[in-house]
Amino acid sequence: MEKTLPPAGKLWLVGAGPGDPDLLTLRAARLLESADLVVHDGLVGEGVLALIPSHIERISVAKQRSRHTMKQELINDLLVRETLAGKRVVRLKGGDPFIFGRGGEELDAAREAGVACEVVPGITAAAGCAAEAGLPLTHRADASAVSFVAGQCKDLTDQDWSGLAGRGRTLVIYMGLATATAIADKLIADGVSPDLPVAVIERGTTADVRVLRTLLTDLGDLVAREEVKSPALIIVGAVAARADALDCLGAPALAAAKREFSCDF
Ligand code: SAH
Repeated sequence: MEKTLPPAGKLWLVGAGPGDPDLLTLRAARLLESADLVVHDGLVGEGVLALIPSHIERISVAKQRSRHTMKQELINDLLVRETLAGKRVVRLKGGDPFIFGRGGEELDAAREAGVACEVVPGITAAAGCAAEAGLPLTHRADASAVSFVAGQCKDLTDQDWSGLAGRGRTLVIYMGLATATAIADKLIADGVSPDLPVAVIERGTTADVRVLRTLLTDLGDLVAREEVKSPALIIVGAVAARADALDCLGAPALAAAKREFSCDF
């Protein structure tokens, strides 16, 4: 009997950018229109999802910090299975697939299964949020190095962040809300000045964006006081002083000491 080969599917790991659909790449927008299946996570904004034509199959594998609706291995299996079945599968991920997006794990799974896979970069939250807030991540006067770190690690105290923040450096913390106080304490214990400006950008590039600013010593209190919600980025460094932000330094004594910060109590 003649054997017919299965149709060749393909997998694309596509960055959806930080929220605003205008920040999609042209390649991402084109792929969304020609896919058979789009598998997306919770960070992908409504505006981007609205660009997917209604006849295209869509699966949400939204994940929350404390509740995993779908384990990563199951997502990997789903992507491989659907691609091997001959579909053009778009795995749509917030920001850039390779920045804290587990895109590397999905690419590994595709490679192991011998599935054709291409990665389409996206604007990562740091770039999108900083641009919107007028906060240059590097600046000849303030910072010649920038680091991206994940703040949600359970073993935060074991992480070596020495040298990532402070003079001449910008530190961008993803997923750092829940550990904001511990992060500030850790940096200060490592010798970073408690007076270093910090910006917190909540839901960057969406209609609900908030850009708040304080000093490192007040970071944890600010997050609690303003009830900052995920997704949010924390940007630590002198460049934060340049952002178009709402100054909301909490402690009156500190505010008095820092005349450049006008405070809303
Ligand atoms: N791959 C994504 C990051 C995924 S990790 C990227 O490249 O941007 C998820 C974290 O990204 C969130 O907890 C938050 O810290 C950050 N993030 C994503 N979108 C954001 C947004 N619109 N505004 C602020 N932070 C955002």
